[in-house]
Amino acid sequence: MFFAQIGLIFLVGTMLGSFLNVCIYRLPRRESVVWPGSHCPRCKEPIPFWHNIPILSFLVLGGKCARCKEHIPLTYPLVEFLTGFLMVFTWHHFGFSLAFLHYSTLLLFLLPISFIDIDTKLILNVLTMPGLLVGLALSLFSNDISLQQSIVGVLVGGGFLWAVGIVGEWLFKQESMGGGDVKLGAMIGAFIGPKVLIALFMAFFLALPVIAIGMGIKQLRFGSKIPFGPFICLSAFIVVFFGQFLLDKYLILIGLRG
Ligand SMILES: [Zn+2]
Repeated sequence: MFFAQIGLIFLVGTMLGSFLNVCIYRLPRRESVVWPGSHCPRCKEPIPFWHNIPILSFLVLGGKCARCKEHIPLTYPLVEFLTGFLMVFTWHHFGFSLAFLHYSTLLLFLLPISFIDIDTKLILNVLTMPGLLVGLALSLFSNDISLQQSIVGVLVGGGFLWAVGIVGEWLFKQESMGGGDVKLGAMIGAFIGPKVLIALFMAFFLALPVIAIGMGIKQLRFGSKIPFGPFICLSAFIVVFFGQFLLDKYLILIGLRG
């Protein structure tokens, strides 16, 4: 029974991931995510549903379009697997509950936002603005955060990154924090409340070693743009699922708890 549930949730997750792939490919190109149906981006051949089964089809077709043999990017099965895995992970953490609905919905926004940011260095309003509204709406039913906390989260999440952007622009004489990052901070705040500040601080600490390594191997130089969205998303994930654990460890470390 337990394994049947895991299997079912994973399966549903991979199907959601398959839809996220459509969003990741089409939203930055301003294409509709519902019409036309799935097709190969090179030969335009419609993809029949039996060639569109998450993960399995990629393996069976050897990662190529069945007609023109165009390579299908590895990110497709990766996003499908990751979505399935994260749905199971969230279910294991929260059980079937409002919290499961709340945080799996957050993840379904964070995944395409991260992959699109890596791809295009853009964080799209078409994801963050509906995400913000959904986050506010879910807080009405949540046992974890109240509507007030959700609103405060929007203000401090967006406000903090906006202020960082102002200071960065003054220090470096160029835009250092995009408007997309600010809206992403606000969106995550709507889901997790004032804890979003912890996530945003953590995002800078996660980004620092990556920037240092990037400069070390000369892939980045001073003034290079790196997508910051994935770091914000990863930090939000850590705060939601490991926040209490990390807080407990921290309190023991500084001697406030035995
Ligand atoms: Zn093709």
